[in-house]
Amino acid sequence: MLFDMDGVLFDSMPNHAYAWSHAMTQFGLEMTTYEAYLHEGRTGSGTINILAQRYWGRDATEEEIERIYAAKSEVFNTRPEPKPMPGAFEALTAAKERGCKIVLVTGSAQISLLQRLEEHYPGFFRQELMVTGFDVKHGKPHPEPYLMGLQKAGVKAEEAIVVENAPLGVESAHRAGIFTIAANTGPLEDHLLKDAGADIVVSGMQYVASLLKSM
Ligand code: CA
Repeated sequence: MLFDMDGVLFDSMPNHAYAWSHAMTQFGLEMTTYEAYLHEGRTGSGTINILAQRYWGRDATEEEIERIYAAKSEVFNTRPEPKPMPGAFEALTAAKERGCKIVLVTGSAQISLLQRLEEHYPGFFRQELMVTGFDVKHGKPHPEPYLMGLQKAGVKAEEAIVVENAPLGVESAHRAGIFTIAANTGPLEDHLLKDAGADIVVSGMQYVASLLKSM
């Protein structure tokens, strides 16, 4: 089983959305928190360029991307530590009891959040079964992150299940050919996850845990 991290294992998306929406205004860019959820999973530069195109009519320069992303990170770091997502521990436990290998597939390259996995979910994750923002050339919605997850686990797409929360993450998993459960833990409408290719949409990680116990 392949698990995304932000919005699945940690309730970290409100912090990201807050940071995007608050850091952009100083650059003459505007992003609502709702839109930040729509872009969840996209690389920082990809997100910044969407706004740059909209408000400036051109891509941002490398230097602008660096400056804007630093401002976003600065606001993000002032937010309280994200809590584990309710139901995630139960879902991981159910996966483990079924004898599944547990793989992390995240676009995040934040060392602190990765370290916190072991603190909140001890014994579930191993370094060699993690795909992070450091590993991949193409971020979600490209299938590369999930294809790499399959490779690391040594399983075929049809033997795997993905748990995701965001449209772009669902799209990445779906394009990798993997059965995808979407846990809708944010403000987006269910149909956006369905349209992105989710096989099942449930309203939280508690429901993922129940599904895994009943399958
Ligand atoms: Ca996510």
